[in-house]
Parts: sequence; C-alpha cells; structure tokens
Amino acid sequence: MHKGGRALSPVPFDGRRLGSDFQLLRPPRDEFMVLGGMMVGRDEIRHLIRPWRSLQSSSIASRILVRYLADRFRCPRGTRLLLGNALVGRLLFSYRQIGGALSMNTSLETLCIEHGRVTGAWVHSNGVRWRIHARRGVVLATGGPSSSSAWRSRLMPERDLPMSLAFEGNTGDGLDAALSIGGVLDQRHASPRSGRDLQFGKGDYALNRYNGDPDTAPNRCLSPIDSAPFFAVRVTPAPIGSSMGLRTDADARVLDQRLEPIAGLSACGNDMSSAMGGTYPGPGITLGPALVFGYRAARHAAGSMAEGVTQT
Ligand SMILES: Cc1cc2nc3c(=O)[nH]c(=O)nc-3n(C[C@H](O)[C@H](O)[C@H](O)COP(=O)(O)OP(=O)(O)OC[C@H]3O[C@@H](n4cnc5c(N)ncnc54)[C@H](O)[C@@H]3O)c2cc1C
Repeated sequence: MHKGGRALSPVPFDGRRLGSDFQLLRPPRDEFMVLGGMMVGRDEIRHLIRPWRSLQSSSIASRILVRYLADRFRCPRGTRLLLGNALVGRLLFSYRQIGGALSMNTSLETLCIEHGRVTGAWVHSNGVRWRIHARRGVVLATGGPSSSSAWRSRLMPERDLPMSLAFEGNTGDGLDAALSIGGVLDQRHASPRSGRDLQFGKGDYALNRYNGDPDTAPNRCLSPIDSAPFFAVRVTPAPIGSSMGLRTDADARVLDQRLEPIAGLSACGNDMSSAMGGTYPGPGITLGPALVFGYRAARHAAGSMAEGVTQT
C-alpha cells in the first residue's frame, strides 16, 4: 500500500540579496555542490547529467552553468542557493529586514538564573567571556548533541556510531546547559527499534520516492544492477540529527523534573525532543518543527513580556 505525504523543499534564494552577509552563510556540505561551489537541486541533476536529452534539459543546464560562471567572478562560490542554504539565507535576509543583530562565533557556556527564572547566559567569543541579559527569555537552538561521541553513546548505547553528519560544533551544549539547571531529557524515544523501517519497502514512501531517480520506472528507488562499470561505496550509519532532547511543552518551554516549565527558557530544533517520537516520516521533519517551535517560543516570550509590562 502506498503511504500518503509529500516532500517540501525551500524555494531557491538569490544569495546576492544578502550583500556582505552572504559570507556569513556556512557553505553546504561538499556533496551538495559541484564544480567547486555550485548547488544543484534534485530535479536539476538529470538535466545536467544529460543536457542533450531534450531542448528543455539543454536550456536548464546552460542557464544554471552561465549563472554559476558569472557568480564566480565575484564570489568564492555560487550565489544561487538551494536546500538548507536557501532556507537559512532567506531567514537571515528577513531577519536583517526587521533590523535583527547577530553575534557570530559566540558560544553558549552556562545559563543565568535569578529567582528561579532564566535571565540570560554566559557566552564567550574570541577568548572573551561576557554575559547576555535576556529580557524576554532564552531559546536554546544549539543543534542537539549528534556530533558528541559521548552523547551518541549515552542516547544510543546499542548502536556503534563512530561519526555524525551534523555540524561538528553541535555537541549538546544547549542540553548540558539546560540539564545543569534541572531541565529534563526526554528519553522516551530511546528504543533500539528506531529507524528499522528504513530497510524495507523502498519506494513505498513519499520520502523514498522524493530521493529516488525520476528516470527509473516503475519504481524510482529500485533498478537492476546489470551493466558495468560497477562502483562500491562503504556505507556507515551516522546520525544527521537527534530525536532526543529536552522535554518541552507546546510553547517550546523547557520542563523541569516536575514537568513544570522553567521560566525564561525555551528550546527548539535538535535541542528539543522530537514530537515525532523518534521516527522520520518524511523530509523536513526536523526543520519544519524547528521553525514552528522557534516561532512559538518567540511568540510566547513576547506575550509574557507584554503581560509583564501591563502588570507594572
Ligand atoms: C546531510 C544532512 C541532510 C539533512 N536533510 C534534512 C532534510 O531534508 N530535512 C530536514 O528536516 N532536516 C534535514 N537534516 C537535519 C537538519 O539539518 C537539522 O535537524 C537541523 O538543521 C537542526 O536545526 P537546529 O537549529 O537544531 O541546529 P543547526 O541548524 O545545526 O544549528 C545549530 C547552531 O548552533 C550553533 N552552536 C552549537 N553549539 C553552540 C554553542 N555552545 N553556543 C552557540 N552556538 C552554538 C552551531 O554553530 C549551529 O550554527 C539534514 C541534516 C544533514 C546533516
């Protein structure tokens, strides 16, 4: 039986709109770029591999290549952003439009608590330690613990996971900071059965089909291996994110051991425990909730502040 569902991708974003902020964007993984810096969408691969197959393929391939060549006169990589880079680029653009400030290379150390409320954080940047005062609250979004081998062993002791595909700086700092002030780690998903379905029913699911080869029929995820040359790749299991994190409520407020919200502290992204119970029903199931709960955390913090102002 075919399952429902659909895959969503960010709309491409023109990195030139960021001006000098373009250099703040971390480039995608090498695997997502060709020719030393050109991003390629899944649906474009077929046109670039066989541009002569149709007039449409030639036109798409030449448009992408000409744009990339023009980019390389000005930038160290292409500015036509796709996938996660398009998402982050557009977020950064929108954030700047409303006057948002950024503090780069600034690392969270510990949270500050006053009268039972999180009121800020100690951070360090370029060897200097300083304190940020948070009027409305702190939202933890340090990417979860996937790149810490100690955290991987703690969360998935039954698996041998020597590496992670997540950013190397995502070592669980947000979790450590929240746990040290009484946050609760949600380990309800810690089951060795997690992820087993991925080994079966290739092509039955929307995610499989989205990642498959559209030129292969009838099942774009299955094809006979019958013509040389043959290549082998070593496949090593590695997490791209963690589904276990801090336990929160629907407004992304971090809960303590009594399952009460810790005032002034929220979490989103991989610092927050996945609402999906450790399953991966489709692409976007980490990024979608990360955006939704980041939004809910900010809305809630803004509402709390408004209430506080009214009372005084
Ligand atoms: C190859 C790959 C493909 C993926 N594909 C998909 C997909 O198709 N769909 C999907 O939904 N998800 C996908 N994911 C997962 C998704 O990218 C992550 O789940 C998501 O980016 C997590 O968002 P986040 O905000 O929690 O963390 P991140 O986006 O990783 O951001 C965390 C940030 O926190 C910073 N940081 C870390 N520690 C500190 C500290 N102490 N102080 C200050 N800052 C700190 C890091 O530098 C980083 O910038 C993919 C991941 C990978 C690796």
